[in-house]
Amino acid sequence: MELRISKRPTLYRSKYLLPIIKEPVENGAIIATEGLIIDSGPYKQVKKGFIGEEVDLGHSLLLPALVNAHTHIELSAFKWRLSPTSSFVSWIKKLIRLRQEITPEEYIKSARLGLKEMWQAGIGLIGDHGNTGLSVPLLKDSPFRAVFFREVIDFQGRTNLKEFLKDQLSDPKVVLSLAPHAPYTVSPILMQAIKKWTQKYRLPFSLHVAESPEEVEFLLHGKGPIKELLKERGQWPSSFVAPGLRPVFYLDRLEILDENTICVHLTQASSQELALLAKRKAKPCLCPRSNTFLGVGFPQVEEMLALGLEPCLGTDSLASNDYLSIFAEIAALKQYFPALSPDILLKMATWWGAKALKQKDMGYIDKGAIADLLILPAEGEKLEHILEELVTKPPQQIGRLYG
Ligand SMILES: [Zn+2]
Repeated sequence: MELRISKRPTLYRSKYLLPIIKEPVENGAIIATEGLIIDSGPYKQVKKGFIGEEVDLGHSLLLPALVNAHTHIELSAFKWRLSPTSSFVSWIKKLIRLRQEITPEEYIKSARLGLKEMWQAGIGLIGDHGNTGLSVPLLKDSPFRAVFFREVIDFQGRTNLKEFLKDQLSDPKVVLSLAPHAPYTVSPILMQAIKKWTQKYRLPFSLHVAESPEEVEFLLHGKGPIKELLKERGQWPSSFVAPGLRPVFYLDRLEILDENTICVHLTQASSQELALLAKRKAKPCLCPRSNTFLGVGFPQVEEMLALGLEPCLGTDSLASNDYLSIFAEIAALKQYFPALSPDILLKMATWWGAKALKQKDMGYIDKGAIADLLILPAEGEKLEHILEELVTKPPQQIGRLYG
């Protein structure tokens, strides 16, 4: 079911309403118009004094569209082309090699299919990393909201950001920002320059951090398969001295950790590193199914939550995942950490993702929020059971109410 929100104020009633930032409502309703929610809450309260059209969504659960806070739409052509591995660097090498073999037409066609997959999986807001920018016009032409992070890879630090930023323009639907790929592929000075630029324009800053044991080895000791890879790629600066620090401590020394920094993966982050991230109010972004694909371990989610961190979720790309579904990421986390409650898992998949991407009118249902909602069947006795099922198994039918 796909419903477009009418231009005239319309009331939508559902058996359950999941505002995320407030308690769930039984027999709830929203009033929306022109793509915005103008009222929400218990049906009787919302209905009072309202004289417009009313749509009854029956036995359904209304919740905000999900946030995929980290993906690479431009890598969608890699679907099924790479196999799960236990060697992170050999996966990168295969990815680099295959990248040359795919035609520009295939990249665009697959990116469109990737977007369609995300729409069908109930995603409404995307944090997209890309080196080429091919996804930007596709995003502008889609019903999604997005932050596109133009990703820099340059360990020699030769990129002239002014040149790089020539064509950057902001759009209300697609915000453009910059991102260094990772601490081992971007020089420290360049990472700091990118951070300064994002601070100047109050944009989110995002990078892959503490993703693999190889990354930790490289930053601590300056050796291992990542050093070899950089040498092979002609990206090895002879003057480089390893910082001798674990990834999060290294980023902190560069002063790039703050509440606008999204740290993607963190599978290798130690308890001390997580405590530092909490102190800096940085935003972890977890991609559990990609981590499993690459055999790099799982992030310490329960420890993050106990420290007050607000992790969000990402699928990463189809080069390290088989499906761009945040419901599938939720189910993977639930399987690994059964004690995680539906309340927390759904916050990670919505509100915390929107906050990390600095899109403060998305990821929840309340007056003033963007009306981008999911309609799920709510057959069952108790909401508690419906939600438990929802976070255990991705739903088959995902309806949308948007405008
Ligand atoms: Zn990624």
